[in-house]
Amino acid sequence: MAEHFQVLVIGAGPGGYVAALKAAQLGARVAVVEKHHLGGVCLNYGCIPSKALLSSAEMLHTVRQAKQWGVRLSGEAGFDWSAITAQKDRTIRQLRGGIGSLVKGRGVTTLAGTARFDAPGRVVVTAADGSEQLVTADKVILATGSAPMRLAGWPDDPAVVCTSDEAVHWSDLPRRLLIVGGGVIGCEFACMMQAFGVEVTVVELLPRLLPTLDAELGRELAKVFQGRGIACYLETRVEDVRVAEGAVTARLSSGQSLTVDRILVAVGRRPTTGTLGLERAGIRADRHGFVEVNAQLETSAAGHYTVGDANGQNMLAHAASAQGVAAAENALGADRVFDAAIPSAVYTFPEVAAVGLSEEEARERNLPIAIGRFPLGHLGKAMAARHTEGFVKVIRHRETGALLGAHLFGHNATECIAAVTALVQQKATVRDVAETVWAHPTISEAIKEAAEGALGVGLHLPPRKVLRVAAAVA
Ligand code: FAD
Ligand code: NAD
Repeated sequence: MAEHFQVLVIGAGPGGYVAALKAAQLGARVAVVEKHHLGGVCLNYGCIPSKALLSSAEMLHTVRQAKQWGVRLSGEAGFDWSAITAQKDRTIRQLRGGIGSLVKGRGVTTLAGTARFDAPGRVVVTAADGSEQLVTADKVILATGSAPMRLAGWPDDPAVVCTSDEAVHWSDLPRRLLIVGGGVIGCEFACMMQAFGVEVTVVELLPRLLPTLDAELGRELAKVFQGRGIACYLETRVEDVRVAEGAVTARLSSGQSLTVDRILVAVGRRPTTGTLGLERAGIRADRHGFVEVNAQLETSAAGHYTVGDANGQNMLAHAASAQGVAAAENALGADRVFDAAIPSAVYTFPEVAAVGLSEEEARERNLPIAIGRFPLGHLGKAMAARHTEGFVKVIRHRETGALLGAHLFGHNATECIAAVTALVQQKATVRDVAETVWAHPTISEAIKEAAEGALGVGLHLPPRKVLRVAAAVA
């Protein structure tokens, strides 16, 4: 006899476990099916392990520059890889335990196994020992996430050619690393690995790093990378890869050949919906397997929702969990349109963050825009803290005054973006941003300064530059 739940969630990543918590908080009888670990990719293979490793890398990078801060250290800065990875693993275990307690505390039933549809609202869960359990539900929320894309025909020995799944858990470091893909994972790993003394090369198909973000961000990051000796080959493709005598040689479309110890393939992620039997539930997906949803996150099958990477809208953990809340509410009677502003945060050092439209997106839409830009190097806090690299760029709709987007490159950008995200979400104007009082001295003062620039009323740039901005605004 099938066990019945009001809400069944498939996948316990940030989208799924948050949806389960919300549905339980709203009083529903809830189960979540998970085939691997609570926390999903975010906790076990993504956000958290990569940020744990990046924080050690950034500490090392900072310590090496201690002299700039007037700090004397005896001897050379070094690191203990096994201690770094042990700390990362401890953090994962601690957070996994925390999610387990939260889920249990809310009375959510956890079903360990792999789910597949039998019919709408009917799901078979296959446990690791092969036993099967049929579960039925009034409402189903799919949160099955994504997996790294691999390149067809390349060697599949993960000791040589790997993806982030392996790289966040490397037990040792390569001497020479080729990263294929200069997107978010490629850039975060390039930055991290260079700090750990790895010789890093990045090969990116498109003309710039971080091609999904405002062009200035990727261009600035490429300059920083080059200054640190990270070789970046843009508009370049890896033609073929050969493994011989423990090394791997990649032939590039530019004609060059590179011999390295390991390759990290970071060319994007794909949904894992192929084995779910979506058709048996009447759920439509596109040709890549991303599930189609409406503004309420409901799929083509009534009462079945999809959140997070599986719908392909944002592929970010905070988007997944925000969608999880909205889907749970909608599953239990609400009619909430999900249209939140979603910030992007890239944890290189300096950091990159953005919200809203990029300059290129605004121009493609033929929007009348004015741009305000403020270099961090003019800020008291940036100078005092010796973090003068970077800028803030604000995009204003010239007719409505709306704050269309903000793009940050520099120290603390991933924290500063929270304030602008709140303003974009509240549909603030650029004047609202300029008239808000920002604490001094902070890096986020540059947001106000850039907003003033977009209005042509900046006070803290040399008059020549303000006039140039004012002319662009007029
Ligand atoms: P997932 O986290 O992928 O979870 C899906 C879960 O469903 C998994 O646990 C899986 O085992 C389970 N599952 C799948 N199919 C089934 C099935 N049939 N039956 C049962 N269970 C199933 N995002 C950020 O916002 N910030 C970051 O800093 C960041 N860093 C990242 C770093 C890396 C290296 C990577 C790879 C990703 C990073 N991301 C980051 C992206 C983030 O991890 C994802 O956007 C997020 O995990 C998506 O959440 P989700 O709930 O949709 O799916
Ligand atoms: P991505 O889409 O950010 O970048 C992939 C890059 O690979 C693109 O720049 C693309 O042009 C390039 N590419 C594709 N095929 C190529 C080829 N054959 N040769 C060379 N370059 C090629 O994807 P990703 O970096 O793999 O990350 C996957 C997802 O994980 C992203 O959606 C991202 O949002 C998420 N993520 C987020 C964070 C964060 O928020 N800090 C960190 C890591 C990952």
